[in-house]
Amino acid sequence: MQVTTPEMEPTPFRRDLLRLEPAGLYCPAGDFFVDPWRPVDTAILTHGHSDHARFGSKRYFAEASSESILRSRLGKEIDLAPKEYGERWKLGNAWVSLHPAGHLLGSAQIRIEVAGRVAVVSGDYKRQPDPTCVPFEVVPCDLFVTESTFGLPVFRWPSPESVFDSIHRWWRENQAAGRTSLLMAYALGKSQRLLAGLDASIGPICLHGAVHGPTQLYRNQGVSLPETFTVSEAAKDFDWSRCLVLAVPSAQGTPWLRRFGEVSTAMASGWMAIRGTRRRRAVDRGFVMSDHVDWPSLLQTVKETSATTVWVTHGFSNVVARYLREHGLSPGNTLDASPLETQFQGDAEDSEEISSSPEDETGS
Ligand SMILES: [Zn+2]
Ligand SMILES: [Zn+2]
Repeated sequence: MQVTTPEMEPTPFRRDLLRLEPAGLYCPAGDFFVDPWRPVDTAILTHGHSDHARFGSKRYFAEASSESILRSRLGKEIDLAPKEYGERWKLGNAWVSLHPAGHLLGSAQIRIEVAGRVAVVSGDYKRQPDPTCVPFEVVPCDLFVTESTFGLPVFRWPSPESVFDSIHRWWRENQAAGRTSLLMAYALGKSQRLLAGLDASIGPICLHGAVHGPTQLYRNQGVSLPETFTVSEAAKDFDWSRCLVLAVPSAQGTPWLRRFGEVSTAMASGWMAIRGTRRRRAVDRGFVMSDHVDWPSLLQTVKETSATTVWVTHGFSNVVARYLREHGLSPGNTLDASPLETQFQGDAEDSEEISSSPEDETGS
């Protein structure tokens, strides 16, 4: 079993499979980048969040169901070749295919095979069920590139059923007290996942404009979501107190909220697992729901891929890489794990800076 320290260079072979360049993760054999943060000739994108899908590359490849999301974010005119999950194609000397990441609609892991060696760049991913996207698929590989947004033992997600039970209870309590329920979440991905799990028989569901846009893209892709309306469609004397309003966090404290009368505020985010976050964000309730892997699922996934080399990107990359190096995942099995300096910042969705990046929440 190969034992290396993070300071050691990857073997020459792996450099040919995948390496870090100033523009991002690069596959020399196929002459393409994965989620580059600078304009390049060929970019393969894992998903439509703004820290992964950046403007300016000459041509893009991405999963077919993410096409409308990417065109709405990067421009209708981009040169984008849609690929189905599991479809293999060749770029230079590399075979490439996309596999479900379970993060949001059209999110993909990129599988790269060069001369029988396989690298998988997972992008952002989760293992929890989400009716709005295809579930994560374990792809065996030699080199696995994982995110670590929530890579600390404190992060363990409750089941989605129990989270939705809590949301529904909160909604009913608010109705009984004559308060409007204001639930805040990231516009792309999280909002649609929430929408799909909400019990629309409890009351009407209103969408903030920034949530409505991406939601329509999901509906156009055939994702079934409950009926919703926007503020401009409501009658003047509408009784908001029975309503659940789904909004972006940047709506908090704005005049837009005045129409709703008395509100109870809540936020759905992985960060709500940390004591104190709810108070800092000044919301009445916090619901723990994330579109990223939690600590146990991260370790489980690394193990299931059978990778011998793991590169850890955005989040707690040093902690996770050190843990994997020191503990391995089974007795006597050492992992070559190192943190990777990327420019993936974590989605605004699950970042503490969520309200400071309104540009990212427009969903346009
Ligand atoms: Zn993401
Ligand atoms: Zn990300």
